[in-house]
Amino acid sequence: MQVRKRIEVRGMVQGVGFRPYVYRLAVARELTGGIANSASGVTIEIQGEPQSVEEFLRALPAEAPPLARITDFEVREIACNGDHEFRIHASEKSEAARALIPPDIAVCDDCLRELFDPADRRHLYPFINCTNCGPRFTIVRSIPYDRPQTAMAVFEMCAQCRAEYDDPANRRFHAQPNACWDCGPQAELWNARGERFSSKDPIGEAAARLRAGSIVAVKGLGGFHLAADATNPETVEKLRGRKRRIEKPFAVMVPDMNAAEEFCEFDEEERELLLSPERPIVILRRKNPSAIAAGVAPFNPYLGIFLPYTPLHHLLFAQSGLRALVMTSGNLSEEPIAIGNSEAVARLAGLADFFLVHDREILRRCDDSVVRRSGARVRQMRRSRGFVPVPVFLDREFHPVLAVGGELKNTICLLEGRRAFLSQHIGDLENAEAFHFFGEAVEHLQNILEIQPLAVAYDLHPDYLSTRWALGQKGIRAIGVQHHHAHIASCMAENHLAGRVIGIALDGTGYGTDGRIWGGEILLADDVNFERAAHFSYVPMPGGAAAIREPWRMAASYLRHAFGEEMFRLAIPFVEQIPTAKVRTIFKMAERGMNSPLTSSCGRLFDAVAALGGLRHEVNYEAQAAIELEMCRDESAAGQPYAFAAREESGILQLDPAPVIRAIVEDLLRGATPGQISQRFHDGLACALAGVARLLRDRTRLNTVCLSGGTFQNVYLSGELERLLAADGFCVFTHSQVPAGDGGLSLGQAFVAATRLSRP
Ligand code: ZN
Ligand code: ZN
Ligand code: FE
Repeated sequence: MQVRKRIEVRGMVQGVGFRPYVYRLAVARELTGGIANSASGVTIEIQGEPQSVEEFLRALPAEAPPLARITDFEVREIACNGDHEFRIHASEKSEAARALIPPDIAVCDDCLRELFDPADRRHLYPFINCTNCGPRFTIVRSIPYDRPQTAMAVFEMCAQCRAEYDDPANRRFHAQPNACWDCGPQAELWNARGERFSSKDPIGEAAARLRAGSIVAVKGLGGFHLAADATNPETVEKLRGRKRRIEKPFAVMVPDMNAAEEFCEFDEEERELLLSPERPIVILRRKNPSAIAAGVAPFNPYLGIFLPYTPLHHLLFAQSGLRALVMTSGNLSEEPIAIGNSEAVARLAGLADFFLVHDREILRRCDDSVVRRSGARVRQMRRSRGFVPVPVFLDREFHPVLAVGGELKNTICLLEGRRAFLSQHIGDLENAEAFHFFGEAVEHLQNILEIQPLAVAYDLHPDYLSTRWALGQKGIRAIGVQHHHAHIASCMAENHLAGRVIGIALDGTGYGTDGRIWGGEILLADDVNFERAAHFSYVPMPGGAAAIREPWRMAASYLRHAFGEEMFRLAIPFVEQIPTAKVRTIFKMAERGMNSPLTSSCGRLFDAVAALGGLRHEVNYEAQAAIELEMCRDESAAGQPYAFAAREESGILQLDPAPVIRAIVEDLLRGATPGQISQRFHDGLACALAGVARLLRDRTRLNTVCLSGGTFQNVYLSGELERLLAADGFCVFTHSQVPAGDGGLSLGQAFVAATRLSRP
């Protein structure tokens, strides 16, 4: 007796080798039937002996290819028919159009084995790939995701490659970037002027240049890297000077896990992160001393480490014998990463000594992703290559909406049905190049997803370029979403929460509904609206943006807030180091209301504490003072939290850091170290926030807390606050799929706007 079943599989199951996988699974069990792509995934029919069918159903999710993501599947019994074989049905255009384009994935072990096998026809071929690995998102021009619509269109497959591509039993069946030495892309080495270097072995030549201390621009999956020997201090300094990048850490690529172990400390879960097919940069505690040049990450006990993810990276390491390469984005300071060969030569002129290029076009810019482990959770610091365009799956259906994100670390989000697609990291929309990239990303994402949004969601800050862009769109409803509400909503969306929550949103800057700069906010929020329940006391931010670059301004502002005129008589290093006249000048500005907005920002409070504690008076990159304050914590001072004051003003709770500032001054007078001050500050902040949550629970009976905003990239603070809240019986939610910072903002905007659309 035979049975026949129909299985609807949903999720990321197209373009990831799923159909040949199912084919092999069915044929091995002598099942008949077929598989076809459907609107939301694939439909499978199998027919055979009941036991074989059961086996098939068990194996189907368990042994799925590495790129596949099954979100759910449904099995139904149907009538048997006279099938004699198992067939893969061709996709129809309308179906393929709805398919998800997979992300770019690191070269797999099977391909690596062939790469270094002298007997293989792809021995040392730098563009080897298969259905389980290789470029995807970055080579797609438009849909359907098929070779003619990719950067591979110009390469005609040779007979051997074509045979693999057409064979359902082959690992390269429908692997769109399939190629070999005879028919595929080739690498070349160029000099600084973009002239081809005569060389039979461009990768070997590039490897030799790297060994000799040159900076080589290397074309990767989503853009160019500037590569340099990370163990050579002079080379690293040269790169810093040329890139005009002061102190901000460089990411380091190492050839294998042995090298990673030589330089960093990590546990089993962090090892898995390093080896995961997305191959993100993983922030790990560095070993000291190590061969990595100090200039790679000055003042930083951590290192961003990643493993090679293209065959070309593996070949570079194999041929250079180097143990660590700085691999930093091929750009000048904060501009978008370069992707075109001639674009790279033009934009990276003066930065790179050589260019290791190839003729497979990168169609989409995509920076490396950055993750950090926090307790049992993975924190996305930057969600880009390897993750995009995998959607965040939501718990209900929505109308299509586009959200344009914030200003810094911008991403955009297209939401439709139960899926929210976040773009790759676009960057800071402060320069023309980044804004151009923003436009490209919006258009491309809409094209490959074929989503026509009914509304566009934007941040309330009137000067953000993303906001202006959104308000400039004709014929589409624009929906403004407050910055911190969007942060909390983003946390709700990825955690499938509905209804009201207590939202703790901490970050550097977000435009408030009162026109002030918010950033230390406790909201009562749902997916439509919010109420501001508590916030940090307002203090002036003397000089506006200058106060972000110069944390001493915030330290002075907080000292005055806590001590008034008395501050000038405090015998602490900070007051002695900064000339009184300079401080008086910024106070005068503030009194006249000149360029001194009021802020409740948590990021600025971190800046003030870092400057007061003696860490630094000025920063060279965003959030540097806050990051260094977190890093310097001295756990011997744990358990003595600084106390905040709380008072109610017109129904809103004010959390006042004045007592904290006074306690820090006392500690300084006693000769406390920055590490001790940092520890007491972190613990005090966590206690104060947990206290506010308790108070709000008493008042509202809400027991769910969402933590979001850039400050929660601070692993200690988020871990500690989570621990306190959980111990107190709260259900605590935070992020693991999208960044807690502004990189995740667009998801929250889209979620709120789509919910508003669905309600009359
Ligand atoms: Zn492979
Ligand atoms: Zn070929
Ligand atoms: Fe923010």
